[in-house]
Amino acid sequence: MENKTILAFGAHPDDVEFGCGGTLLLLKEIGFEIIIVDLTKGEKSVHGTSRDERIKEAEESAEILGIKRDIYDLGDKNISLSEEHKKIVKKIIERYKPSLTFAPYFIDKHPDHINTSKLISDFVKPIYYYISDVKNPNLAVDISNVYDTKVSALNAHKSQIKPGDPEWLEERNRDSGKMINSNYGELFYAEENLNLPSIFVKLK
Ligand SMILES: [Zn+2]
Repeated sequence: MENKTILAFGAHPDDVEFGCGGTLLLLKEIGFEIIIVDLTKGEKSVHGTSRDERIKEAEESAEILGIKRDIYDLGDKNISLSEEHKKIVKKIIERYKPSLTFAPYFIDKHPDHINTSKLISDFVKPIYYYISDVKNPNLAVDISNVYDTKVSALNAHKSQIKPGDPEWLEERNRDSGKMINSNYGELFYAEENLNLPSIFVKLK
């Protein structure tokens, strides 16, 4: 793989950390240059956080990961398949020409997650979808060695943490890990999965 650039798209700051933070840390260790792209600032978060506060938390989290982050402003609960939004996403992809692209899985309850997924799939292939509800993953990554850093990065999004979240995260990553006999894991779905870095384990 000659081009070592990876784009990891999320609708809201912290989506990427939840879905594939551990995997990105491992890919960084093997020499990839990674950019997290949040399409919104998450300003309509149910926890009543200000836009500035969320940006500050997102930047802190990126610093913990040691990964670059670009935050766009398509509007929380407003991401659509409009020409305007398509143009923005197309420009980001053309600028970085990623060799690997991560996006939210297209089956989800949140319209922003679904539309982020669909917007990107028009312009780049293949996409590795990170999965918020495990339905039909076909790839897994053992993130045991970097799990603590993933948790620290998520903890930086202080305003978003509700009681029970840390336990839920732990359980979810443990359950994902069980699929490949590891302590902690992250799951993905990809339509094509050729020439992937060896950290990915094919499930079927
Ligand atoms: Zn989200």
